[in-house]
Amino acid sequence: MTDNALWPFEVEQHITAMSKYYAGKIGSRFYITLRDEGKIMAVKCPRCGKVYMPPRETCGPCFYNMKVDDMVEVGPEGVVETFTQVHYNEPVIPREAPFVYAVIKLDGADTGITHYLGDVDYENISIGMKVTPVLENERQGNILDIKHFKPV
Ligand SMILES: [Zn+2]
Repeated sequence: MTDNALWPFEVEQHITAMSKYYAGKIGSRFYITLRDEGKIMAVKCPRCGKVYMPPRETCGPCFYNMKVDDMVEVGPEGVVETFTQVHYNEPVIPREAPFVYAVIKLDGADTGITHYLGDVDYENISIGMKVTPVLENERQGNILDIKHFKPV
């Protein structure tokens, strides 16, 4: 047996799988409100008061099952909690590198959302920087209805 026998056998292939994803009641309200009204909706746990952005159905600390009626508007402004610059392209990421990802905690929320930062040079970004969303004019009902966040 030679060393070549230890190399993995690889087959290059391309798989296309069509699918639809149901965002759930809370996720659907989030995307519809963003698309139709340009507002960012979080969900507030009525039991412990934690405000989730992005919204979710189950509260982590108290396991309360939140409803659409528990949703509250947050932001639109927020602060940068952390950030990084991406230097490579990935087929699933619809933005050309280099670009900046940031975790942004919107005003009124207790958790942060990951999104793009734009209209700013990387050297000028800092943790705690106040930012505001830039919305698409023709919104489709997905997270890219927020083009990016930019400094206030
Ligand atoms: Zn809770």
